Amino acid sequence: MKTKETVKVHRAGISPAAVCPTALTLPERSVVLWVLDVLEKAWGMGKLSPVKAHEDPLDGLIVTILSQNTNDKNRDRAFAQLKLRFSSWEEAAASSIEELASTIRAAGLGEVKARYINQALKRIKERFGEYSLKGMKSWDKDKAKSFLLSLPGVGPKTAACVLLFELGQPAFPVDTHITRVCKRIGWAPQNATPEDIQSIMEAAIPQEQYYGAHLNIIEHGRHICTARKPACPSCPIISCCSFAGKTRRGEGQWPPPLS
Ligand code: SF4
Repeated sequence: MKTKETVKVHRAGISPAAVCPTALTLPERSVVLWVLDVLEKAWGMGKLSPVKAHEDPLDGLIVTILSQNTNDKNRDRAFAQLKLRFSSWEEAAASSIEELASTIRAAGLGEVKARYINQALKRIKERFGEYSLKGMKSWDKDKAKSFLLSLPGVGPKTAACVLLFELGQPAFPVDTHITRVCKRIGWAPQNATPEDIQSIMEAAIPQEQYYGAHLNIIEHGRHICTARKPACPSCPIISCCSFAGKTRRGEGQWPPPLS
């Protein structure tokens, strides 16, 4: 199969038959780094400038809550509507849940996210005395992570996104693509939670590579290692993948049975 994406991979000069430096049984750092290097050559996301943080990390937190269970386009539409409707976060916090939900409906789960945002804004006002998270910029990672996780609607992935993209702290957010790819490669057991995978990846990757690795694995999951039909024969990291053979010409079954 030659999709637009596999053509892109081949143009990057990466052969699916590239030989993995060592047999992979555990996420050994040398193997992880080799895979990340191949993915960087294939997708090149690490070369992009880091996402520009919002002036106030609170904006980034709200954007990240809106992004849960939806795509970037709907998230951005909902955030733009929020900014249009309310002149400040104080005004948004004072509005009704119904009005907030209606404003952000483009992002889906309007009422749930509206409650999260409303409660998070109130907690932030209590903690900082204002509707702002600028005060967190001087905090260390553990303190910032702990506070973020205490907010309604903020789980490990949302907290890691705010830490990495808004506060410049070393954190590795794990989404559905990263979960799938890491399990298929064999870096994480089938029953691993996103939190488990975050710990594995944070231990295996140098901090300065978190940003590029996060984006490149997501690209790989979106275009090659897709949920329904991974393009294994065209995959540049096939030699390091535990489950690759299961997808060739009907051998085995996909998805592989849970062990
Ligand atoms: S070989 Fe197949 S299952 Fe493994 S990472 Fe590549 S596309 Fe995914």
